[in-house]
Amino acid sequence: MNWTEKLMSWYYQNKRNLPWRKTKNPYYIWISEVILQQTKIKQGIPYYKKFISQYPKLKSLAETKEENVLKLWQGLGYYGRARNLHFTSKLILKKYKGIFPSSYDELIKLKGIGDYTASAIGSMAFDLQLAAIDGNIFRFFSRYFGIKKSIDNSKSLKYFKNKSYKLMCKQNPGDYNQALMEFGSEICKPRNPYCQKCIFKKNCYAFNLNKIYDFPVRKKNSRKKINRFLNYLIIIKENDEIILEKRTKNDIWKNLYQFPLFETKKENISIKKVEKIASKYYKLVNTNIRKWNLKPIKSILSHQELLVTFWLINLDKRVLNKSNYNKLKKYPMPIVLDNFINNFFNLKS
Ligand code: SF4
Repeated sequence: MNWTEKLMSWYYQNKRNLPWRKTKNPYYIWISEVILQQTKIKQGIPYYKKFISQYPKLKSLAETKEENVLKLWQGLGYYGRARNLHFTSKLILKKYKGIFPSSYDELIKLKGIGDYTASAIGSMAFDLQLAAIDGNIFRFFSRYFGIKKSIDNSKSLKYFKNKSYKLMCKQNPGDYNQALMEFGSEICKPRNPYCQKCIFKKNCYAFNLNKIYDFPVRKKNSRKKINRFLNYLIIIKENDEIILEKRTKNDIWKNLYQFPLFETKKENISIKKVEKIASKYYKLVNTNIRKWNLKPIKSILSHQELLVTFWLINLDKRVLNKSNYNKLKKYPMPIVLDNFINNFFNLKS
């Protein structure tokens, strides 16, 4: 057996039973690939199932409101993925009459589809001989071949693609790409890879030189996490309504909903300042302001650490009813706000 035959045989005996592996429908493959771009498989599966059951056809996704897509996406993070899915579904419906484009050149032009996703859809749905390189393959190839090129240098991608293309199982490029990813994620794992039972260990560069953790090579990540102090105002109006607004700026959570927000440079701020800002939203009478959480709630994103405080303004217990809760829960919101709502209302169903 040559290298590729060994890989494919391992894959067919060991592959996990994942829902998107049972289809060649490009729409389903696209959804799964976008979900898995920044999400682990275990977390992604229930979202994939929800998505496919709510929007079984590209047309159904294109014809819904963006807000509904964001709501379904809630909790997955990187909401730009959901906005792009919706945008691109509308474009495919209009420009391609709902038929998913089947060439790499057309796929790569679609919003939210980069080289990896275009190659994954092209190979898995249309049997195109395209090498899709994800983090698992970067790691597996780097270790096995001893590749010292930095994987976050865009020029390296071409090198890895060529390498993979040369080894590709040309009769079945989709399964080949998935086999590589599966091997990287299940055997040649980032920590504690299963080298002893690895079918490639005899010729593995990193294993034989005892340098597994030297690969893959990366540039030093100099980007520091920034801290942001977010203060949300829970303003109750006379009619017991809680004020909400939509985030429209090009920032995290674009197009999601939130309570009125102001950001500060430090954690501690005076009640006076809160009152002043809250009064811009609503004419306050006999104001009663207090913090809901004494210590800020941490929410960690890839490059930001958010420290969140909720301020209750004129809270009247009558507000905490099922109907207000249900109204708020309809809106797509960052998960830190959704958690707040669940705890704030603390309703027994
Ligand atoms: S021997 Fe270890 S490092 Fe080398 S390919 Fe196999 S699992 Fe990866």
